[in-house]
Amino acid sequence: MNPSDTNTAFGDLFDHLFSHLDDEALEESHSQVKVEQGAQTLQEAHQAADRLAGVEAFAGWQAVLDPEAAALRQRVLALMRQWQPQATEAFTQGRFPDEIFRQLGQAGALGASLVGRDGAPPLSKVATCAVMHGVEYGDGGLRCALTVHDSVIQALVRFGNESQQARWLDPLIRGEAVAAFALTEPNAGSDIRAVSTKATRQGDDWLITGAKSWITNGPRADVILIWARTGERNDAIRGFLVEKGTPGLDVEPIATASAMRIAPVGRLHLDRVRVPHRAMLPHAWGLTDINACLDYNRMTVLSGVMGGARRCLEIALEYAANRYQFGVPIASKQLVQAMLADMAQRVALGEMAFLQLAQRWEAGPLPRFDVSLVKRHNCAAALEVARMARSILAANGTDLERQVMRHLLNLEASYSYGGTHEIHGLIVGKELTRENAF
Ligand SMILES: Cc1cc2nc3c(=O)[nH]c(=O)nc-3n(C[C@H](O)[C@H](O)[C@H](O)COP(=O)(O)OP(=O)(O)OC[C@H]3O[C@@H](n4cnc5c(N)ncnc54)[C@H](O)[C@@H]3O)c2cc1C
Repeated sequence: MNPSDTNTAFGDLFDHLFSHLDDEALEESHSQVKVEQGAQTLQEAHQAADRLAGVEAFAGWQAVLDPEAAALRQRVLALMRQWQPQATEAFTQGRFPDEIFRQLGQAGALGASLVGRDGAPPLSKVATCAVMHGVEYGDGGLRCALTVHDSVIQALVRFGNESQQARWLDPLIRGEAVAAFALTEPNAGSDIRAVSTKATRQGDDWLITGAKSWITNGPRADVILIWARTGERNDAIRGFLVEKGTPGLDVEPIATASAMRIAPVGRLHLDRVRVPHRAMLPHAWGLTDINACLDYNRMTVLSGVMGGARRCLEIALEYAANRYQFGVPIASKQLVQAMLADMAQRVALGEMAFLQLAQRWEAGPLPRFDVSLVKRHNCAAALEVARMARSILAANGTDLERQVMRHLLNLEASYSYGGTHEIHGLIVGKELTRENAF
């Protein structure tokens, strides 16, 4: 078939589809399109957020947030809205946004529920979850940067000594220093018992040798918490605070990573990296303590992803209201409304679930079943929301400028990050069946 045949074929199809519309009706609908397109104002963009007031109320934000957490959430959301125009560029360039990270520090968002400011106690756990939701509303990679950064703050608070805390906590909560958390290895992903990076004692020092992969913030971090086997107490895995530039530590950026590009990931090659004994976290002894860090990490993921989903829903709503096809906004079409309803119910239920979990987290560690159930639900639901938003924006949805694709790519990674969908399924399944299927 030559190109003119193709055109004829499309022409015939077009004639068939629109045979019921006379010329006058088509003309009228086209002029309406022009008027309506001209009416796309900033105010309309804000209406999409207003339309989500029902979702916000259903999820129960107001009832759950204490005044400090509510104020922090507003500060974070304001920062994210202001930063939006630069987020796409930072994503395409794979550039860590130092300035916005520092601003988040100034806003009190880093380690908010772990370290108090100006003599005040730390904020609630709900505040941390609200921060993660607000940051991923801006970008999931930035949220991932906060997740690992906060995980190191948590490890310092829980397992560090006074001098380690004095050295690192202040610059970390201010966003003046960036942290990374290095557990995963080329041959140790879901099964962290397979970690084989080795630390060997030599006098007052330790020599660390091995490899780590998929380390968020790795190429940017000032300090990396590296987990390695020490040969002590059943070859326990212990944590070492390794500073940027330490001889023997080579950080290779994974430049081709397609998701979370704002928080560049790296491979670490460690060849007899010498660190003093004081670099070791004295109170972290193996898998139970590592899992405490990972539980914190999972709570940030299952809260954060719903922020990305919320942003995708907002964008889809705004687009559907302003995109005219067949002479009317696509928002007036039942199939589009059904998709928007599917999205809204996922966002509302996902937010309600993490807010409820965050409240209970205040009282102490949560049952693994609960965390896995919500991590699994929220990551899958958020991804579905992003895919539906992409579909509503159709061709425009594939354009990174429209933001949805960036959120979608980030959410693809969150599906596997913080424990994969399948591993959380095994945790839930074991509780239900009392059968270990790992
Ligand atoms: C963007 C990004 C950032 C990351 N940042 C960090 C970081 O900062 N620090 C860090 O330490 N790690 C980080 N990771 C690594 C992450 O924690 C791992 O990807 C995750 O633990 C899964 O490991 P894996 O990718 O090696 O997959 P694998 O464990 O190899 O799994 C491959 C597949 O097999 C399935 N599978 C595995 N075991 C079982 C089983 N028993 N039964 C059924 N199915 C199974 C999995 O569900 C998955 O589908 C990051 C990953 C990504 C994508």
